[in-house]
Amino acid sequence: MAGEVITMAHGGGGTRMLELLRDTVFPLLGDAALVTAEDAATFELPGGRVAFTTDSFVVKPLLFPGGDIGKLAVCGTVNDLAMVGARPLFLTLGLILEEGFEIRLLERVLRSVAEWARRAGVRVVAGDTKVVERGMADGVYINTSGVGVVPGGRNISISGAAPGDVLIVNGYLGDHGIAVLVGREEYGLELDLESDCALLNGLVESMLEAGEVHAMRDPTRGGLAAALKEMSAASAAAIELTEEELPVREGVRGVCEMLGLDPLFIANEGKLLAAVGERDAEAVLEAMRGHQLGADSRIIGRVVSGKAGRVSVVTELGPKRLLRMPSGEQLPRIC
Ligand code: MG
Repeated sequence: MAGEVITMAHGGGGTRMLELLRDTVFPLLGDAALVTAEDAATFELPGGRVAFTTDSFVVKPLLFPGGDIGKLAVCGTVNDLAMVGARPLFLTLGLILEEGFEIRLLERVLRSVAEWARRAGVRVVAGDTKVVERGMADGVYINTSGVGVVPGGRNISISGAAPGDVLIVNGYLGDHGIAVLVGREEYGLELDLESDCALLNGLVESMLEAGEVHAMRDPTRGGLAAALKEMSAASAAAIELTEEELPVREGVRGVCEMLGLDPLFIANEGKLLAAVGERDAEAVLEAMRGHQLGADSRIIGRVVSGKAGRVSVVTELGPKRLLRMPSGEQLPRIC
């Protein structure tokens, strides 16, 4: 496929499209359900409540330090399922391709989708391919929907945090957004930093084995600040963070200071925020630290009784500062 590019005919539903599926998409994704080319995949679900989510990915650039749009699409959707305690099972893959996009690059993205789906233990069972004219998209956009099952006894909800709960995060904040920014080479930034893009379902399983988790959220767009505001509002309780405990790498802090950004508002793609009852907090924290993606886990604050949506940062010396909800995205197209 060297040198070959996407043409409008690849989206036409005719022989060129069938060739693209046969020669490029199916060999790389190759799920038995996908290649039957039925109008809809059929599958059996194990017992439990069904979790269902969807996400679109428009990240720029398509390849960034620590990942690419394919990895991001799988991780983003798997993580959203994991945040409600679901075991992810099936994904769909919708591709919107720009005329002129190199098929070699498409193959790279699809290889990444296949690799991360395999690691997550999910199957890509259905998909769709559309092509738009040159200039009407930026290479490739991806939409993924995901289905999972929540095993009986799990009851995790964004509205489940309660006063007294401890807030735990599994590591450094803001790596994804800043890595993508560095990858754009717009500001001539030089920083040895990779996106934290990762699959969180394994970490979640080990947390839930260790104790009871009341609420979880992956702080993606809008960063930790948006995730906490949402949790506080949904759970009708206030949140207090300890400034000194908020983990931000030196490099990320430096770039943020230079560009006037707040690391608490920067996107993450491999982080989770959990509200855990005080009784189980140590056990859950220990389980997290024992997992590869949780080595830097720490308690960053508490849920307290107070106004819904009120998130404050307490410093050792100074007074409290209130976190605002971000009004928009500081960095567009980071996911
Ligand atoms: Mg999410």
